[in-house]
Amino acid sequence: MRAPLIAGNWKMNGLVRDAQALAQGLRARLEKDSAPEIVVCPPFLALAAVREALAGSPVKLGAQDVHWEAKGAYTGEISTAMLQDVGCTHVILGHSERRHIMGETHEHVNRKTRAALAAGLTPIVCVGELLEERNMGDTNGVIERQIVKGLEGLSAADLSRIVIAYEPVWAIGTGKVAAPRQAEEVNRFIRKLVLQRSDSRTAEGIRILYGGAVKPDNIKDLMAEEDIDGALVGGASLEVESFVKIVRYTS
Ligand code: PEP
Repeated sequence: MRAPLIAGNWKMNGLVRDAQALAQGLRARLEKDSAPEIVVCPPFLALAAVREALAGSPVKLGAQDVHWEAKGAYTGEISTAMLQDVGCTHVILGHSERRHIMGETHEHVNRKTRAALAAGLTPIVCVGELLEERNMGDTNGVIERQIVKGLEGLSAADLSRIVIAYEPVWAIGTGKVAAPRQAEEVNRFIRKLVLQRSDSRTAEGIRILYGGAVKPDNIKDLMAEEDIDGALVGGASLEVESFVKIVRYTS
């Protein structure tokens, strides 16, 4: 049985005080919730304040990216040790905004995933197709390339420690959520790809999230699908009430 995971990606929103207030609100509302597993991913500069605000709560801390090198002349980058130093247990990798706006490649995602695993962080590796790619019937091809190249060289033991998030790019920030069946089909395909690279125990155990316009009014139907093991939430994670409703699968 896979433990569901709900992760909030706060992206580049708010100042430290806003992140603190959001974290305090979540802590107050989610004090007793132990399931699903909950992770919030604030901007780097708010991580320390959010860790403080979440102290003693079950909500875990994640970052939105990491560099693959341990240290050195990488101006502007953040290492896995820096993330752990500030209390992170998770890190989002290969988000479509990083792939499509910042030019991140499969190789970058692969190096970051390996570095996160080596450090003991849980990578949340994002994959997903553009609308044009879906319209051309290439959804599975895109996903397969992202999985094969992004997760190249990972052992079954490595794969059992990662989380994959299927995020169709056309659904992110657009309000156009994928139909639960559509998301389920891709998540099942991803599980099959994992099986081809590992074993049935790993494929059955790996958590595959859905992300893209997840809101309180669609989470329940998404979570009812067999291969959707949680959600990566953008916009709706920026407000205490909507994120709490998503965590509880209620509208
Ligand atoms: C995201 O960016 O990971 C995301 C899912 O965004 P939204 O929920 O706002 O569509």
